[in-house]
Amino acid sequence: MKSRFDIAVFEGDGIGPEIMAPALELLDRVAHRNQFQLRFETLPAGAEHYARTGESLPGRSLEAARAADAILLAAMGLPAVRYPDGTEISPQIDLRKELGLFAGVRPVTLAPGQASPLNLPADRRIDFVLIRESTEGLFWSQGRGEVSAQEARETLVITRETSEKLFRFAFGLARQRRDAGRGHGNVTCVDKANVFRAFAFFRALFDAEAGRHADLTADHVYVDAMTLLMVQKPWLLDVLVTENMFGDILSDLGAALMGGLGVAPSADIGERHAVFQPCHGSAPDIAGQGTANPYAMILSAAMMLEWLGQRHEAPNLQQGGADLRRAVEHAIAGARALTRDLGGEASTVEASAAVADLLDGVAA
Ligand code: ATP
Repeated sequence: MKSRFDIAVFEGDGIGPEIMAPALELLDRVAHRNQFQLRFETLPAGAEHYARTGESLPGRSLEAARAADAILLAAMGLPAVRYPDGTEISPQIDLRKELGLFAGVRPVTLAPGQASPLNLPADRRIDFVLIRESTEGLFWSQGRGEVSAQEARETLVITRETSEKLFRFAFGLARQRRDAGRGHGNVTCVDKANVFRAFAFFRALFDAEAGRHADLTADHVYVDAMTLLMVQKPWLLDVLVTENMFGDILSDLGAALMGGLGVAPSADIGERHAVFQPCHGSAPDIAGQGTANPYAMILSAAMMLEWLGQRHEAPNLQQGGADLRRAVEHAIAGARALTRDLGGEASTVEASAAVADLLDGVAA
């Protein structure tokens, strides 16, 4: 069984390095206890790197990331640093396209005791996963839009090849969750098939995949109706799958249900590679103050361990990931170390230390 894993690390911009440092420390701690090894290689990329060198994602960084077992990324981009066409530096999007990371996985969970803007009935839990297609849809048009003095056009692209992989992945995840006792084995296709042909095509491909999984159920919800459902009855949701732009928007709504961007992890997964990074950006407004919330970064690191464990059939990594996730959940739900964005006073270092203390407790 493989026990040493190479991890490509992109600290990126803004608060990136501040939240990456404690995440790596915690990963080392889990690795030591669960008897596996992680070898981190920190790679240059991002807006600050672009401003210095004219390169946002150096070829060597991309190749090292491609060769690694998994990629951990904090946040990239700074509003003041832009390409000549005015768009922001976003190597994380380049990585998705280069490495074919079609499935953006955004878990939305609310642990008992965790504060949420929703006033949930006592017997209700939130535990669903939003899968955002991450290589095409409306984002296909990035850098290709046509703008004249009179009008602007962007093109949305849905391909059969990517959609089929995406839906296969979604049903696989629903089965895994059901088998782990976390979901009822349902996948919901979120689209706008009543208005756009591209979404009718998307939905038809979804239905074809659904037909291959007699042990699971499937349904459809229009994206506008989904925003209502996520707020009014989120406990009904299990696995949601949607187009890139819709997923971009819905994942921020999902983060809000959990208490904010500071606690929302994510993974961009392809057939061979995966990037794990928080849903939030580089938060330049609070960079350098030591107040950034590290929880989303740590939860993303936990997702990385669970993914590696599954892929390499290494239960010690899966266990390590689950322990790390539960330690963060306890820190948040017990209001042990809430950072400012969560209404507390804890610094990045204090919040991370609380997770380290709790790790021993949850693993016992
Ligand atoms: P991007 O477009 O790169 O995703 P964004 O425009 O969504 O970025 P963020 O960088 O995510 O913006 O920041 C949005 C707001 O949330 C900012 O006020 C920022 O300070 C806050 N924020 C984001 N991440 C964190 C965090 N980890 N801890 C505390 N506050 C955060």
